Amino acid sequence: MLFSWFRNRRRRKILAEPFPVRWEEILRRNVSHYPRLTPAEQSKLREITQVFIEEKQWEGCGGVFVNEEMKVTIAAQAALLLLGAEHDYYARVSSVVVYPTAFHTPVAEDGWEDDELSDTSLSGQAVYRGPVILALDAVLPEGRNPDAGFNVVIHEFAHQLDFLDNLVNGTPPLEDPALEARWRYVMTVAYEDHRREVNSGADTTFFSEHAADSEAEFFADATEAFYCRPADMKADYPELYQLLEAYYRVDPARWFSSGGPPKEEGGTSVDGSVDLPRPGG
Ligand SMILES: [Zn+2]
Repeated sequence: MLFSWFRNRRRRKILAEPFPVRWEEILRRNVSHYPRLTPAEQSKLREITQVFIEEKQWEGCGGVFVNEEMKVTIAAQAALLLLGAEHDYYARVSSVVVYPTAFHTPVAEDGWEDDELSDTSLSGQAVYRGPVILALDAVLPEGRNPDAGFNVVIHEFAHQLDFLDNLVNGTPPLEDPALEARWRYVMTVAYEDHRREVNSGADTTFFSEHAADSEAEFFADATEAFYCRPADMKADYPELYQLLEAYYRVDPARWFSSGGPPKEEGGTSVDGSVDLPRPGG
């Protein structure tokens, strides 16, 4: 109780500070979702960003010095998942680790506990009750390009929401029993359909091949699609879209509808990033 009193007081203090003008410029430059949000959502995103930046430890690896621009860009993308929901600012994620490019997980012989992910190249990883690890050359272009269709920050922070009930099973804690029942049904059907598609050797599938690995990966991938390809998802998987809409309590299809803000000129190139291996973990 005492701890949360101190924490809440500290958060109020952080939020009493004005949002820096240069941070607003970074949001407009690097977070393509931001200009599309309603003013109320934008204001909430700025608040979450402020607290997130202050509360997390930021660690650069491979020669990266984590500067203000990187922090704002990452925090704001993670904040997209919290806009409509009850949340505690990813309190269990104490740090964010930033690599310049895709990083390698240790080999199994080094005592790495996860054999399946041993010696793999990743552009993002969410560690259970641990950090989120990100590759900058995926974070920046995916954040900037509204048509990228995927987003490593959203993917990894969706994993962190899944972990909140101490189970890595693609189901975050759900307060409402009716939503939980619907979740089990809709997620299971969509996941099994996707697995069948992948196993039958389909050339293109809506979700990534990696999403067929487990319910946890499917949820993270579905969250990415919900935020980054909402119109397509709503058309192809309406029940899944509505389920995630009920959980996240936002409607990204509205952000990306034709009435949304135009794409900004410049700063949206994805050159050099399209061949990056997609994240696991
Ligand atoms: Zn994943």
